[in-house]
Amino acid sequence: MSSSHVLVLNCGSSSLKFAIIDVQSGSEVLSGLAECLAEQQPLIKYKYDGTKQTITLNHGDAHQVAIAQLVELVKKLGLDKHLIAIGHRVVHGGEHFTHSVLITKGVLNAIKQTSTLAPLHNPANLLGIEAAQAAFSSLPQVAVFDTAFHQTMPPQAFLYALPYSLYKEHGIRRYGFHGTSHYYVSTQAHKVLALDQQNSRIVSAHLGNGCSVAAIKNGQSVDTSMGLTPLEGLVMGTRSGDIDPGIFTFLVNQLKYSPTQIDLLLNKQSGLQGISELSNDCRTIEEAAANGHEQAQLALDIFCYRLAKQIAAFAVPLGGLDALIFTGGIGENSNTIRAKVVSGLSFLGLQLDDDKNLAARFGQQGVITTSSKPCAIVIPTNEELVIATDSAAIAQEL
Ligand code: AMP
Repeated sequence: MSSSHVLVLNCGSSSLKFAIIDVQSGSEVLSGLAECLAEQQPLIKYKYDGTKQTITLNHGDAHQVAIAQLVELVKKLGLDKHLIAIGHRVVHGGEHFTHSVLITKGVLNAIKQTSTLAPLHNPANLLGIEAAQAAFSSLPQVAVFDTAFHQTMPPQAFLYALPYSLYKEHGIRRYGFHGTSHYYVSTQAHKVLALDQQNSRIVSAHLGNGCSVAAIKNGQSVDTSMGLTPLEGLVMGTRSGDIDPGIFTFLVNQLKYSPTQIDLLLNKQSGLQGISELSNDCRTIEEAAANGHEQAQLALDIFCYRLAKQIAAFAVPLGGLDALIFTGGIGENSNTIRAKVVSGLSFLGLQLDDDKNLAARFGQQGVITTSSKPCAIVIPTNEELVIATDSAAIAQEL
């Protein structure tokens, strides 16, 4: 076994996703998820050497305990000897970070400062960093930001039409998220489709529980659908995406909603869940729609309509379209959603190949359209690999 392993940590508010990646081969040595942290029955599920295992934690155990257990596991499996770095997914880097960085005191402070922009995410990411620093004090720790890839957006794309002082004094602007995924799949698309990196127009659609599209020109993000927070843009599992901000005032004045209730409504009770009143899970909704559930069908229709509209809009910053990428749980697996979206975009020259669309599922990559340009392609995302590769590169420079 070579010393080319990176431990990748993605610390959420009640979960911790982890993986050990061998950056030489790109393979996953260990992967797992600690979930329900600080709740009733926290547990760690992991996969090593093809076998799935579970570690039960005690009631209320939170991130620190999960990381301590993970460290014990890594040591027990003898994997610690091969680690060269630890890579952390950090959700919000604000305008501080345009690429991945070695975590220093200054970097930690900047991530803390940016917590006002991502109060649910950055504090959890910081917990992971601090616990990992304590457990692996001799290893370099690297932060990889979800926002960094979108820092190339021009002001006309990232500014809101609000008083300019809100941007200058409070950083209120569009940042965009899923940057690591958009970067990975667009880089893969350049390779697979033999696109000229200096002359390419790609729209990447990351469709999971959270959904966003990015307009990528010559390898750089020039626009994206998420904004100051991951709430803006497309219809998502439980998030509304774009709505008239006037609804906010209506909810407060007429229905007496508090800010907390509005936050909950827009982030947790809307989207596919809100429209269908059934589920936030695309599989459940597709199944129900196929069985005649009208609101499930409506949820799918709205999801696809808004998505196709946003993709078409991105032909403006790109000046056309060479490739449309589908990724994320829905993008990689739902041939139904892809078919609906591509059919809504036929005026751009996209023509679905039904057989290829059916074949590109469950981890299978592939072009799903008949023509070569523009084309639509399914590319399974691999954010962990980007985090591991960036972390290894930074560690090797030290
Ligand atoms: P992610 O956040 O990337 O894990 O994606 C989660 C979403 O992918 C959920 O809405 C799932 O229902 C959806 N998904 C996963 N597999 C399928 C599938 N076979 N068909 C439709 N949607 C799927």
